[in-house]
Amino acid sequence: NKNLRKAVIAGNWKMNKTRPEAKALIEELKPMVADAGCGVVICVPYTNLETALALTEGTNIGVGAENCHWEKSGAFTGEISADMLAEMGVKYVVIGHSERRQYFGETDETVQKRVRAALDAGLTVILCVGELLAQREQGITEEIVGLQTKVALGGVSAEELKRVIIAYEPVWAIGTGKTATAGQANEVCRYIRAVVAGLYGQMAADGLTIQYGGSMNAKNAAELVAQPDVDGGLIGGASLKAPDFTAIVEAAS
Ligand code: PGA
Repeated sequence: NKNLRKAVIAGNWKMNKTRPEAKALIEELKPMVADAGCGVVICVPYTNLETALALTEGTNIGVGAENCHWEKSGAFTGEISADMLAEMGVKYVVIGHSERRQYFGETDETVQKRVRAALDAGLTVILCVGELLAQREQGITEEIVGLQTKVALGGVSAEELKRVIIAYEPVWAIGTGKTATAGQANEVCRYIRAVVAGLYGQMAADGLTIQYGGSMNAKNAAELVAQPDVDGGLIGGASLKAPDFTAIVEAAS
């Protein structure tokens, strides 16, 4: 029952937008999504967090980072801790994005540690899971996504789960223009919900926001977010243009 949970449309800007570009996009977006009937979040590069927080103050747009480290502080050159984000007023953080897993050596174990740190800092986690094309072709999508989900949530309490959003992002659909069909998206989101029900009970699973991500755009969003187990989306490319992102927000409202 979709009424038991909130749909959230989250933009994942990835490594895009200088500060002036970020300012222009947020200012354009603000009035367009002001009446959204779903949650609206923008996850931006670290260098844009302060700008995004200032510009969205008092609005319905939540601000997130795209990653955080698991240690609180120390000799970890180039990393940013969850506490640093929380202190700024950041509310969300993407963890375990497939680009982090593919290009920066993230594993289910490091994802688990980052989830732990983010929750300890009071952040809401957008946890990304998803299979590679080869894994889908081998018929092991559920095994892969189930394992990613279980390991990442290891040690997360039922109370903390209320600050977790899961984004199902089939890797073959990210940035490729190849969207999963609405049926494929729903099937895996439903499976993830069943895994979570096994871990935390049906009530917790029914309340969990599970997004789809991967080439979601203004055209295909309505069908995807209408699926019974798809509660919004994590949007890459289409989050970089205010009219496109707004159309997706409207589809989920
Ligand atoms: P995309 O990216 O919408 O550009 O496919 C989605 C994501 O990586 O979160």
